[in-house]
Amino acid sequence: MASRTRDPVALAEAVLAGDRAALPRLVSVVEAGGAPAIEVGRRVFARSGDAYTVGITGPPGAGKSTLTDRLITALRRRDEEVAVLAVDPSSPFTGGALLGDRVRMVDHALDRGVFVRSIATRGHLGGLSLAVPEIVRVLDAAGFPIVLVETVGVGQSEVEIAGAADTTVVVLTPGAGDSVQANKAGLFEVADLFIINKADHAGTVELERDLRFMMELTSWPDGWRPPIVRTVAVQGDGVDELDDMIRAHRAHLESTGGLLVRRARRARAELERVVRERVAQEARNALGDVRYRALLDDVEAHRVDPWTAADRLLRAE
Ligand code: GDP
Repeated sequence: MASRTRDPVALAEAVLAGDRAALPRLVSVVEAGGAPAIEVGRRVFARSGDAYTVGITGPPGAGKSTLTDRLITALRRRDEEVAVLAVDPSSPFTGGALLGDRVRMVDHALDRGVFVRSIATRGHLGGLSLAVPEIVRVLDAAGFPIVLVETVGVGQSEVEIAGAADTTVVVLTPGAGDSVQANKAGLFEVADLFIINKADHAGTVELERDLRFMMELTSWPDGWRPPIVRTVAVQGDGVDELDDMIRAHRAHLESTGGLLVRRARRARAELERVVRERVAQEARNALGDVRYRALLDDVEAHRVDPWTAADRLLRAE
């Protein structure tokens, strides 16, 4: 029986020692943020860096969770362990297992080689883009060689999160204007692979034609043109091909050095985010709540410009 500790350090040590029963609680600690999350991040850092991350994004209802579920099955058939982090912006819940997890987990519930977790969009700005890489790092350090990050490709931050993976899969479905919508949502920029799911529906040929046309207009400086794979996720059709294409993209990134470039870019972006958050927090602390509130009032009321306000904040004047 696993210990029921909630102490972040003890949880991190347990997970690093291979105790997967402690993983849900450790993820909750990181999701909640603050000093305990940072402590966990420091502890697990040295043991992370090996997992290959795959982002899966696309409009709501495109079939992302069905596809993820099938992909888990395909990976397990090859005996690969996999962790899934589903970012659910619509969920009113925070922390803990959501209904979606239970639905997904039906097939994989007893499988120790699979870990599925949903997290809801956190209230504060920038919260998710900080929390997701931290949670991925924990799953990585827990020994999962593959981490899938599923997000709804509507908001900019959700697209960015999936786009920050090693390989990003964009899931579209046949239907009026889907490729145009995808383009607007910035999905084109992040795609390494396009999936046309629900290929059993009318409009598949047209969608593929539109996508190919848009791809003609785009340049692909890394020497990789996103392949287009048709799937019928509910039947599992095309899922092996999706799996093969993820592998092919990985092989491409590994052989060209692109993987190192992507990861270096991510590391830099993460550092910049952390510094930004921390400087802002420390400046607020130095000024004190009351004076910070007064300064905000001045800016909101157009009495003080943002540059002068930032000077005062950083100098705690
Ligand atoms: P998500 O919101 O992108 O995660 O989409 P879901 O995986 O929840 O799928 C939305 C709905 O589409 C569900 O009712 C699925 O059963 C259905 N669905 C998923 N894939 C296919 C497919 O390839 N063909 C058809 N006809 N339905 C699908």
